Amino acid sequence: MRRNYFKAILVFLIIFSFAFFIGFKINKSFGILKNGDTYSDDEANMIYSLTDYQWDSSTNTYYFDLIRKNKYQQLELIYGKLPSEVYINGTALKESSFFTRLLLSSHLFIDNKIRIVFDTNIDPHKTPIYVTTTPSAEMALTTFNIVFAFSLGITFLMFIYGLSLYHRKKTEKYLLWFAIYTGALTLWSVLPLFVGTGINFLRYYAFAWCVILDIVICFKMFDIKLPGRLNLLLSVRGVISILVLWSILESIFPKLHSEIYVYSLFLFSIGVLIYACVDKRKGGWLLISGHALSLGLRMAIPLSSLSSSSVSYPLRALQFSKFFNVPFAFCCMLLINHIFAEKYTEAEILAKELEQINQNLDKKVLDGKLALEEQMKRRHSLMMNIFHDLRTPLFVIQGCTEKITSQPQLLNTELPIIKERLDFTKHLVEDLFLMAKLEDKQVILEMDRIPVSSLIKNVISACSIEAEGKNIYIDAELKCECLTWGDEYRLKQAFQNLLLNAIYYTKPKGRIYISLEKKKNITIISFTDTGIGISPQDIDKIFDRYYRISHTDKHQSTGLGLSIAQEIIQQHLGSISVESQLGSGTTFTVHLPIIS
Ligand code: ADP
Repeated sequence: MRRNYFKAILVFLIIFSFAFFIGFKINKSFGILKNGDTYSDDEANMIYSLTDYQWDSSTNTYYFDLIRKNKYQQLELIYGKLPSEVYINGTALKESSFFTRLLLSSHLFIDNKIRIVFDTNIDPHKTPIYVTTTPSAEMALTTFNIVFAFSLGITFLMFIYGLSLYHRKKTEKYLLWFAIYTGALTLWSVLPLFVGTGINFLRYYAFAWCVILDIVICFKMFDIKLPGRLNLLLSVRGVISILVLWSILESIFPKLHSEIYVYSLFLFSIGVLIYACVDKRKGGWLLISGHALSLGLRMAIPLSSLSSSSVSYPLRALQFSKFFNVPFAFCCMLLINHIFAEKYTEAEILAKELEQINQNLDKKVLDGKLALEEQMKRRHSLMMNIFHDLRTPLFVIQGCTEKITSQPQLLNTELPIIKERLDFTKHLVEDLFLMAKLEDKQVILEMDRIPVSSLIKNVISACSIEAEGKNIYIDAELKCECLTWGDEYRLKQAFQNLLLNAIYYTKPKGRIYISLEKKKNITIISFTDTGIGISPQDIDKIFDRYYRISHTDKHQSTGLGLSIAQEIIQQHLGSISVESQLGSGTTFTVHLPIIS
C-alpha cells in the first residue's frame, strides 16, 4: 500500500517536473531587456521581455528606458492584460483582453530613446510587456491566435461531446460532470474576449471555479465518495454551494484572487488522483499523468516569473490561450472513451452469448417438436396395435359363438379357442394396465430383503412347464447368496418375462443358461439362450413398449414383456441390457444393487 502511494506520487512528480522543465526552458530561451538596454539587430526575431524597472523618486514612478539602435529600426510592443497603468510620453496604453500590438512610431523616440512609465502603486514586474520587430510580432500573434482557437475549440468540443453523451446515457453521471467541467474551461477561455462588457467581472472568478470543478471531476471520474454526509458536497447542489461561497469570499477578501490560494486547491485533486491509483481505479494512471502535465505547464508560468522576474512571450501566450487545461481534460475524455469501448465490448459479448442461447433454444424447441411428433406417431401406432390386438380375439370369439349357435355339437372344439383368446385378452389388458401404472409410478413396491438366488429358483420352477413343453434344458449357476431390496412379486415378474422370452424364442431341445454372481456391491443376473437371436436393427427397439419383431414363432406376444421388466428393474435402481447374435442366441443381463 505504502509502496503504491510512493509510486503514484513519483509518477506525478516526474511528469509534473518534465512539463515544468519544458516551460522553464522555453522561458529561459527568450531574452530580456533591462532598463537602458539597446535593442540590437543581432537577434532580430527575438521577442524580449522588459524587466529591471527603475524607480524615479522625483515622480514616484517606475520607468523603463528602451533604446533603439538607429532611427530606421522599427519596434513594436506586445502587451497583454495590464495590472498597472502604463504610459508612453504621457499617453496611457489601452487595456487589452489578450495581446495588443503597438507600433512605436518615430515621433515617440527622443534621441532613439523611449521611456515607458508605470503606475507606482502596482508592481510593474507583473505587467507583461514585450518588445520585438514587426515581422516577429506578426508571427507571434498569429501563432497565439491559432493556439488560442485550438484550445478553445478543443475544450468546447469536449463540452459538446460530454453533453451529447450524457443526453444519451443519463445514468452515467460522470458525463454530466465532464460536460460541466469542460463547459467551465470553455467559459474561462472565452471570457477575455468580453473585456469591457457586463460579464467581464466573471473573469476574476472563473479561474477558481475551474479549479474547484477540477477537484470534483477527479472524484466523479472514479466514482470516489466522501465519507458520510460529507459526500453531499459532491452533489450538484453541494458543488454549486461551494462555487457560490468561494465567489462571495473572493468578493469580500480580494486576496483570495491571489493565485497561491487557488493553486493550493489543486492539492485536493492530486490527493484524489493518488488515491485512485493506489485503489487501482480504472484510468487512475492516465488521469494522474494528464493532471501532472497540465499542472506542470500551468505552474511553469508563475514559478518562472519568480526566478527571473520575467515571463517570456511564449509562456504568457500559453497562459492566455489556456492551453494547459487541454492535457487533463483530454485524458478525461480518453478515459470516457475507454469506459464506453469496454461497455460496448461487454455488450457485444453478451449479444453473442444471447444469440448462441437463442440458437440453442431454437434447436431445443425444434428437437422437442420433432421428439413430440415422433412420440405422437408412436403413440398413435401403439393405440392402433392395441385396438387391433383387442379386436382380433373379439372377432374370433364372435365367430366361435356363431358357430356354436348354429352347430351346438361344435361346443367342445370351439370352447378351448374361446378360452385361449379370452386368456390372451386378459393377459394383454393386465400388461397394458401394469405398464401404464409403472410409467406413472403408481405401482407401490413393497420393499423387502430379497435373496436373489431363491427368487431365481422360484422363477425357474414357475416356467418349468413351458420349458419342458419345448424340451428345453435350463442350466442355472447361482454363485452367490446376495440380498437385494425389492418387491419380490414384481422382481419375479420381471425375471419371469426374461426367462419366458428365452423359452419362447429358443427352438425345442435348446438350452438356457442362467447365472448369478456378485461384483463389488452389485449382483449380476444373466439369461442366455441358444435361440433365434435379435438382428442389430431391432436390438435398440425391443425395450420400446409394444415393440414386437414379426417372426414365425408363435406365442401370445404382446410386445410389453421387456418394457415391463425394464421398468421394474429401473424402479429397483438397477439396469438391464441385451447382447445378441442373430441365429445363435441372446443374453439379457440385469444389474441390481445388493445389501452389503
Ligand atoms: P413379446 O410379448 O413380444 O415377447 P417383449 O417385449 O417381451 O414382447 O419382447 C419384444 C420383442 O423382443 C419380441 O417380439 C421378440 O421378437 C424380441 N425378444 C425378446 N426376448 C427375446 C429372446 N430371448 N430371443 C429373441 N428375441 C427376443
